Amino acid sequence: MILAIDYGGSNFRYQLDTHPIVILETQSVDLMLFLEEMMVQYPIESIAISFAGQVRNGVILSAPHIALHNVEIQKVIKERYAIPLVIDNDLKCAALYEASLNPHANTLAVLYIGTGFGGALVHQGKIIGGANNFAGEIGHTPFRATPFGCGCGRNDCLELSLSGKALALWSHHYGLDLEEFRLEDIKSKPKGDTIHQNFLDALAHSFFTVLNLFDPDGFIYSGSVMQNNPHLIDFLQECYTQSAFKTVRKAPKIELSISKEGCLEGAKLLLNQEKK
Ligand SMILES: [Zn+2]
Repeated sequence: MILAIDYGGSNFRYQLDTHPIVILETQSVDLMLFLEEMMVQYPIESIAISFAGQVRNGVILSAPHIALHNVEIQKVIKERYAIPLVIDNDLKCAALYEASLNPHANTLAVLYIGTGFGGALVHQGKIIGGANNFAGEIGHTPFRATPFGCGCGRNDCLELSLSGKALALWSHHYGLDLEEFRLEDIKSKPKGDTIHQNFLDALAHSFFTVLNLFDPDGFIYSGSVMQNNPHLIDFLQECYTQSAFKTVRKAPKIELSISKEGCLEGAKLLLNQEKK
């Protein structure tokens, strides 16, 4: 059996082969204990984990909310049970899955604008990791100073202008009461146009950065803020028309993601790559 896990900031979801997905609260799960219990109960032959945190070479470097640092999870499982375990950052897993849906794309950029902002790039079927597997952490690129602090320690990260968290922080800052982060609603409130314009500026800035650095065949946008504001795709198409070299290159595809289980499915694809 394959055990696939989507370790998110709030939800811990797992699936045995193609059985229904089971959802637990992340904070209620001790990952190592969970794996040990699953190994006792089921004939598990391999484990694939999509992880909402930083991971490098099978080692968990940092995790949301909880103290999981420098856990050599791949090595521990291999030594204890002699089975393969693959693990990577959740956005990287999701990007791998998106790439499998777009097999003709040479380079694909997958950008997530939900609670946070981040992304991943897949080139010729492989995730671009960089020297430290931090490639794609575009949310922490300095943009404009804000009155807020980012989890990374800075106060000017793109994520503080371009994310659901940013919209909540800015709305609170200006005393706006917003339940749903629909930009069209925000725009009509006092000071809402400032938040809206700052968001669009950050979106355009991140788009041009990725476009000019990687020249992708396609941009796939995912996350709740994008899904709630599909008109942002039109905005990005418009941005493209103002880009350099637009007359001599093929326009990239710019679309909303349609995949629901990209993280879980992408983690399983990691397993296939490991076998090769
Ligand atoms: Zn940051």
